[in-house]
Amino acid sequence: ALPVVAIVGRPNVGKSTLFNKLAGQRLSIVDDTPGVTRDRVYAESEWESRRFSIVDTGGIEPGEDVILAQTRAQARLAMEAADVIVFVTDVRTGPVAADHEIAAMLMKSGKPVVLCVNKCDSIGDPPAEFYEFYNLGLGDPVGVSSVHGHGTGDLLDRVVSLF
Ligand code: GDP
Ligand code: MG
Repeated sequence: ALPVVAIVGRPNVGKSTLFNKLAGQRLSIVDDTPGVTRDRVYAESEWESRRFSIVDTGGIEPGEDVILAQTRAQARLAMEAADVIVFVTDVRTGPVAADHEIAAMLMKSGKPVVLCVNKCDSIGDPPAEFYEFYNLGLGDPVGVSSVHGHGTGDLLDRVVSLF
């Protein structure tokens, strides 16, 4: 079976946009409404002649309602099945409380994690907020713009190095 890469993070950070970029197709719905991807969405992709499956998830958000709980459960299943986890965050908000909670969950999982700081849209030095992501304790973040595609090569280099 191909190695499985799961894309996780809280809603609206750009997981589905990144997934579509990595899949080379628009398979997952991108929307400004948090929590649009409720089920897992799969694609196959390849980088440096290494093939893998990628899984988009609906996001992990603390909360009591049924949809949130189901979406979170789907994300957990995807994480359990994953060989490598891409944890997506948003440079525009900096690391928020939910990011710290997810980081703790990922560290407990013991799986290899690549920390992706999305929405780094301008070329050149990343914004100052980028460096705050070191506080999540998951190593060097990779700055990416999923909309423009900047940084996705570096991200994939890191991902395939962990298979
Ligand atoms: P998800 O909920 O994490 O799957 O996030 P989506 O992929 O649905 O994206 C949420 C919003 O963020 C959409 O309006 C996207 O167009 C926007 N977005 C995603 N990636 C980027 C990016 O790299 N730069 C900018 N500026 N916006 C982005
Ligand atoms: Mg989504």
